[in-house]
Amino acid sequence: MTAVDLEFDQLNSTADALRRSISNRMMYGVGKDAVTARPQDWLHAAALAVRDRLVARWMKTTRQQYEQDVKRVYYLSMEFLIGRTFTNALLALGIYEQMNEALASLGVDMGALTELEPDAALGNGGLGRLAACFLDSMATLAIPGFGYGIRYEYGMFRQQIVDGEQVETPDYWLRAGNPWEFPRPEVQYVVHFGGRTIQRDGHVEWIETEHVNAMAYDTVIPGYGTSATNTLRLWSARATEELDLSAFNQGDYRRAVEAKEHSENVSRLLYPDDSTPAGRELRLRQEYFFVSATMQDLIRRYHRTHSTFGRFAEKVAIHLNDTHPVLAIPELMRLLVDVHHVPWDRAWQMVQQVFSYTNHTLMPEALETWDVDLLTRLLPRHLEIIFDINADFLKQASEQVGHDIEVIRRVSLIDEYGQRRVRMAHLAIVASQKVNGVSKLHSQLMEREFFSDFARLFPDRFTNVTNGITPRRWLAQASQPLSSLIDARIGTHWRTDLLELTKLRELKDDPAFAAEFHAAKRRNKIRLAQRLLHDMGCTVHPDALFDLQVKRIHEYKRQLLNVLHVIVRYNRIRANPEDDWVPRVVVFAGKAASAYKLAKTIIRLIGDVGEKVNHDPLVGDRLKVVFVPNYGVSLAELMIPAADLSEQISMAGTEASGTGNMKLALNGALTIGTMDGANIEICEAVGRENMFIFGLMAEEVVELRASGYRPRRIYEENEALRLALDQIRGGYFSNGNPHRFSDIFHTLVDWGDHYMVLADFAAYAQAQEAVDARFRDSRAWTASAIENVAGMGRFSSDRTIAEYANEIWRVKPLDVQ
Ligand SMILES: *Cc1c(COP(=O)(O)O)cnc(C)c1O
Repeated sequence: MTAVDLEFDQLNSTADALRRSISNRMMYGVGKDAVTARPQDWLHAAALAVRDRLVARWMKTTRQQYEQDVKRVYYLSMEFLIGRTFTNALLALGIYEQMNEALASLGVDMGALTELEPDAALGNGGLGRLAACFLDSMATLAIPGFGYGIRYEYGMFRQQIVDGEQVETPDYWLRAGNPWEFPRPEVQYVVHFGGRTIQRDGHVEWIETEHVNAMAYDTVIPGYGTSATNTLRLWSARATEELDLSAFNQGDYRRAVEAKEHSENVSRLLYPDDSTPAGRELRLRQEYFFVSATMQDLIRRYHRTHSTFGRFAEKVAIHLNDTHPVLAIPELMRLLVDVHHVPWDRAWQMVQQVFSYTNHTLMPEALETWDVDLLTRLLPRHLEIIFDINADFLKQASEQVGHDIEVIRRVSLIDEYGQRRVRMAHLAIVASQKVNGVSKLHSQLMEREFFSDFARLFPDRFTNVTNGITPRRWLAQASQPLSSLIDARIGTHWRTDLLELTKLRELKDDPAFAAEFHAAKRRNKIRLAQRLLHDMGCTVHPDALFDLQVKRIHEYKRQLLNVLHVIVRYNRIRANPEDDWVPRVVVFAGKAASAYKLAKTIIRLIGDVGEKVNHDPLVGDRLKVVFVPNYGVSLAELMIPAADLSEQISMAGTEASGTGNMKLALNGALTIGTMDGANIEICEAVGRENMFIFGLMAEEVVELRASGYRPRRIYEENEALRLALDQIRGGYFSNGNPHRFSDIFHTLVDWGDHYMVLADFAAYAQAQEAVDARFRDSRAWTASAIENVAGMGRFSSDRTIAEYANEIWRVKPLDVQ
């Protein structure tokens, strides 16, 4: 076929043009008309009209990437917590108002429509959301970047609270179709599992494998205020044979489709946690599945413009978002050595030039390892490659450290204690040219404590890149009242240069600005209050202090510290109801991993405490406790702008960075927090006097543990705390049922209180007093809130991505013409 010039309709962005586009898309895309269209159909048609406007930019960006022969970044992540796309795309294209007008002229309310869009919840929490913010920033900075992951059919489970308990239901987010993705049935790769290896003609062959196809689905990622767009490519599993024909011919229909079902399971669902043994093999299959397809895909793309591997390292950067994609390392080695016949040493050199790795946690139980026996069965060739890498590495290491057997044991890629296991973080460090932590503290702990042996072996490898968040979603989109106020005062440029926000500092003593700022916050609080009333029948007063702890439920994040303080406050209010109490609404939201029993009990406790407190006539509006179910990106966008106070109270040394802390401060919430993760840097940026810092520092936690921490003694000595704990144990919040919360009591008092909740309690309660005092002085509070917004410029993910691009990936922005 000869190339012809296709003729397109020129898609301009007036309301009138959009209206025609929507009508066209309704007719020719959805196959309905205005009479039969349901709201869902309008959303679909409108989304297609928006997508049409992105596609031209997308084609152009791709073409320019090839023409400029750019270096590309491949961002590999098991999770992308994207949320909704519709409003985000409208803002990126600058057609929000026009679309609103177009839909209104068709008799459709855009606000209601946007609420129908399901969240793309292909992630658990912070790590997945970070990946989504990075996609946004890479596109906005015109960095030629590709996200690669898995197209889970079922994303993060939906959380309902039934009789006080978390109940998980599947999230079939694709039910109504996904207008944002393009299926690419022509882009498929075979992914192998099992089998064995043989030597043939001086090369290793991996034979007798089972296989599954990985099929690509592409999503356009628009940059903000630029025509640059990027691609998120997600892999879906397809059986290599649709049917077992022999079984089918024998009339056994069920068996004929069974194998297909089985192999397609690999992209069925997002793991809500990876700690359950039953799911581990499937989880490993998922990890290998997506990195194998990705490595094959990026080699193919490289070979479209290069005939040898000579410039591979100049043109490719591969980033590992935590250890989940680390099998990309042995997979790339396998493809280079076994398939493309590159000599081992040359291949290893290339691998070490292209990979980089971000560590996201130092908690030992969260560091990923894989059983050698499982790998032998599932990925025998990769295990051989890992052993060979390890042999070379340990040889080199022992030359460097002078045969110190203890060091060698510690750094080995294989954990030899008990069942042999492969340490994925070690493999990532050994193969990467750069390894980074996600906040200054975290990177320091990584270098000085947890991976200090590696830091000595590879002194130039470790670095820090503090996390960030995209201001487009987390301020411009989430808080229309605040962002239009900021626009009116300092212009609109902050969306792509967040440091512009420092200009707000000069306005903090301007009474008119302060009043408008307060009013914007109040509007966001009313919006949340209305939702709480509508969804949960829960009445809260918008002038109360809105105190939010919204994040996954985990012991280290210490929702329990918050609940204990709530109970103590409740008891004090009951004792002295006539005192001058600052009215508070304490809001929690977050999911507990389905296998994490204690986290689920914490949810139950929050609910039970809320039941008691909220129905106590003696308390009234002085205190409300609300657990909002099904926390996710869209709920975060609604809740975060309404916060006065941001709870960031993890035990110091456990929260690698946090990004919720950044979203809340950017929206003018004051932080009550420990010196942990990025809180430390937020404190530097906004001023300690504008935060409520309390509790043990990371090194004090270590010292206290070493010197013998005795939580029971704190329980015995702090009367108010003891009463609260006794109430929890005694059934005061559980209708006299003493068993419901006994694990919580014992965890804190008798079983070591691993996260030092009791050790930090008194300091926390005192910091909460300071919160009340500041809130009473509304002007001082608002001034601090403004200081928070003004200081958050450096926490834009644009800054984060610029650092990755310059210091780790060494890629340049595309020259967008
Ligand atoms: C930002 C975000 C997180 C991370 O919150 P942390 O407080 O940093 O743990 C988790 N889930 C969602 C939906 C988010 O938007």
